[in-house]
Amino acid sequence: MSSSEFSVIDEFFTRNFSQGLSPALGIGDDCAVLDVPKGKQLAVSTDTLLEGVHFLPNSDPQLLGHKVLAVNLSDLAAVGATPVWASLAITLPVIDKVWLSKFSQGFFELAEKYALQLVGGDTTCGPLSITVTIMGLLPQGMRLTRAGARPGDSIYVSNTVGNAGLGLEKAKAACTDIVDEALVAYLSPNPRIELGCKLLGLASSCIDISDGLSADLNHILKASGVGATVSHESLPLTQAVRKHMAQDADWLWPYSTGDDYELCFTVPLDVNLDGLKGELGESITKIGVIEEEKGLRIQTKDGEQIILNKGYDHFNDKWNAYI
Ligand code: ADP
Ligand code: MG
Repeated sequence: MSSSEFSVIDEFFTRNFSQGLSPALGIGDDCAVLDVPKGKQLAVSTDTLLEGVHFLPNSDPQLLGHKVLAVNLSDLAAVGATPVWASLAITLPVIDKVWLSKFSQGFFELAEKYALQLVGGDTTCGPLSITVTIMGLLPQGMRLTRAGARPGDSIYVSNTVGNAGLGLEKAKAACTDIVDEALVAYLSPNPRIELGCKLLGLASSCIDISDGLSADLNHILKASGVGATVSHESLPLTQAVRKHMAQDADWLWPYSTGDDYELCFTVPLDVNLDGLKGELGESITKIGVIEEEKGLRIQTKDGEQIILNKGYDHFNDKWNAYI
């Protein structure tokens, strides 16, 4: 490691919070060493954001710092884990201190909200790419997975769907209106950590919506060996998304757009969510039911049924059938 890389780590990425679970050995040695508390299990996930693929060139560094952590936190939310530690691998084309200062501000503001400690990482030179490995804790033996949905279970989503997809369209059209609800949803997602933790022991399956409702709900269906019918009328959509759908006459649009980072989960019929609903900062909406018959069916108001068994394949740039 060169002295300039060392000064970057020292200046921008070495922080200790008063809260949180400190590592036994943190930044500065060859490895971090972490104590997993008794009675807990470690949940680990990694996500990369690549310039030109996952974010537009010249994106705001502060929002990027927030987003790279948010998308990783969202994976922890989907299993019901509480965030504890993270490691950050960053590849930078140049050492731009203004950029790094804003990036680390966005990153640590969100980290602090969850008392998450950055315990290590890697700093290299090359095309801009950011990878976070996140670690969270679960009570021993408890977790949400994609595999537990059973016929009769209700399907829920948090907040709304399609909003971030609309934000992406706006970002591509060079919209910089920082109060635009859709643009904010795309640039600065809110991981549903609190909801995920509260669903432990209640939900039969859970996933975070990163690739679109149709693709991600299909992952639950496939892992659980079941099918589902979603009632189109019940989808929680913002006014802006409704308007966009009406303009393009594309009512299937919110099923295929990604980046929402909301949770989609299933709950057995005998589980009452009323108490949970009152405690949450965001809404949850029932959108459909799990059925024995495989496949994802969308039921419209006029009784029409559309089968949506496709998801986007990033490598082949095309829609692939799941089943
Ligand atoms: P090594 O060469 O042994 O892999 P490095 O010289 O790459 O170690 O890193 C030195 C220390 O700084 C390590 O503890 C590493 O985890 C940490 N580190 C490197 N880059 C980052 C980063 N971007 N954020 C946080 N910690 C980092
Ligand atoms: Mg080493």
